[in-house]
Amino acid sequence: MKFNKHLANLQCYEAGKPIELVVSKFGIEANEVIKLASNENPFGTSPVVKLALAEMMDKLHLYPDDSYFQLKDTLAANFEVGTKNIIIGAGSDQIIEFCIHAKANKKNAILTAGTTFAMYEIYAKHVGANVIKTKSPTHDLSEFKKLYKQNAHKISVIFLCVPNNPLGDCLDAREVYNFISEVGKNTLVVIDAAYNDYAKFKDPKKGIDPRYICKNFKNAIYLGTFSKSYGLGGMRIGYGIAKRSIINELGKLRAPFNITNLSLKAATMALFDKEFVKAGIQNNFEQMLRYEEFAKTHGIEFLPSYTNFIVFKFDKQNASQIANKLLQQGIILRDMKSYGLNALRITIGTPEQNDKVFEKLDEILK
Ligand SMILES: *Cc1c(COP(=O)(O)O)cnc(C)c1O
Repeated sequence: MKFNKHLANLQCYEAGKPIELVVSKFGIEANEVIKLASNENPFGTSPVVKLALAEMMDKLHLYPDDSYFQLKDTLAANFEVGTKNIIIGAGSDQIIEFCIHAKANKKNAILTAGTTFAMYEIYAKHVGANVIKTKSPTHDLSEFKKLYKQNAHKISVIFLCVPNNPLGDCLDAREVYNFISEVGKNTLVVIDAAYNDYAKFKDPKKGIDPRYICKNFKNAIYLGTFSKSYGLGGMRIGYGIAKRSIINELGKLRAPFNITNLSLKAATMALFDKEFVKAGIQNNFEQMLRYEEFAKTHGIEFLPSYTNFIVFKFDKQNASQIANKLLQQGIILRDMKSYGLNALRITIGTPEQNDKVFEKLDEILK
């Protein structure tokens, strides 16, 4: 059978390996496995959320309220925007998809950093759009501007990942706002802020304000997720905040009931437990220092990170082999081979998980 031609060169997204694989392949108990490969919250989910979900068990037969008003009201109060400035997606991934489907096509292109979140390119290829990347792997806005000027007529969407997965680099909010104001009104600038609460904690200058974006720009959207600091990766829920003119168009692409009852409840309740989120972020940067120390004492190059992960770049040793050896011992890290890097991306874990990683990694590197 013939399929759409632009799918021919498309590779599937390579997700972090699951715990189940390590259990079945290496016979390690599930609760012994340390999974630091997908930037999930190592402390799990807030107890407030878990309690609320228990009460949902007699609602499973009902479709969700498709207006999502409880979650939208809570988000709106949280960020001081209107409920009509918000769209909810099955992960912020789905909103990335909506943005591409609303703007990109065979005749135009998207613009991204050299090494960034793989889904931008994957969704662009779904619609046959071109992908233009900066030479710089991290976000270099002067290069973004140059490429935009050269190709302005055909760039439909620009993605800024602030901070950037998988490298951890992070633009200042002021730079981002200035950049958006220099981009033409027909190009949508997507601010993917999946880790922005981590960045803001480390350096307030990095904190992007969705309200500011919403108020000041007709050509930008802010994307947030519950998958990282809120500990709800398995619930698949995220949101976009922008002017109504953008939200209304994206809304046309959303299927009814795209979010489950459980996910809506979980996300709404998660917004009330700010302490859980804050404690997780605090642990993250305390433990990040230990990883930096470990890298220094072992002569490993690392990139300063504003996220909940750190990238270790190897020189002589082979990162894929290291990842495999760790996997056999029940530690799942992210091999960055698919990004063309001899490197590992490590999600910062709990102190105990990190102890284990240091112990095993030290043995392997000896
Ligand atoms: C995790 C992540 C997302 C969103 O993930 P969802 O689970 O789909 O909400 C978006 N962008 C980046 C860069 C991410 O790392």
